[in-house]
Amino acid sequence: MSQIQQLYRLQQMDTEIRQKKQRLTEVLRAQRETEALLAAREREKTAVSTLKKWQSSHNNLSLELGSLNSKAKSAENRLYSGNVKNPKELTDLQDQIAAMGRQRGGLEEQMLEAMIMIEDAEAEAKAATEARTVEESQWQQAQADYKEEQNTLALRLHHLLGLRPKQAAQIEPKLLQDYERIGQRNGGEAVAVLKINRCQGCLLTVSANKVKEVVEGQVTHCGGCGRILVAV
Ligand SMILES: [Zn+2]
Repeated sequence: MSQIQQLYRLQQMDTEIRQKKQRLTEVLRAQRETEALLAAREREKTAVSTLKKWQSSHNNLSLELGSLNSKAKSAENRLYSGNVKNPKELTDLQDQIAAMGRQRGGLEEQMLEAMIMIEDAEAEAKAATEARTVEESQWQQAQADYKEEQNTLALRLHHLLGLRPKQAAQIEPKLLQDYERIGQRNGGEAVAVLKINRCQGCLLTVSANKVKEVVEGQVTHCGGCGRILVAV
């Protein structure tokens, strides 16, 4: 195998290493929790806390109503006990009972509102939990696939990185330096395939003389892109 062909093989290796590293970065990035999953969790958290707020509000109103009812009950007992003779006190008691009745109406109205809010909040919490569950299971399924791809990529990269120094050692240092230098200007592609008489790096037509040199295995640069030409 000519030096140029060895160089071309090195480039194929380098290209694969570059692509696999790039894909590995993407795969690692994709294993972070998605925006959709975070949003679904946030929605569920808000829904649950809203539900708790209304449940606690309903409980407090219920306690308040209970205590009001027992106060009203004892006022009524006293009113009808026959023990209160003073007309002023009787009128006061009647007024208090009436006031408590109005207060009870207000509390009952608030409780009804809380009940409606609880129903809405329960429906939202249920929907939010379902949405989060779906999002989480999709994410987990994707994780399993990514994990598998990550392992395959890591194994292949490990293999290639082990081979690369051996392949580079096959090439004369001067040619290897040219390869690095030309590669830096051309996105890592220092070697271009010559197809009939055309450079596949920049699609320029190459002179018959150069084609002959390439076929003979001499180091020949494309006049268009400067890459080292290889016949395959
Ligand atoms: Zn070219």
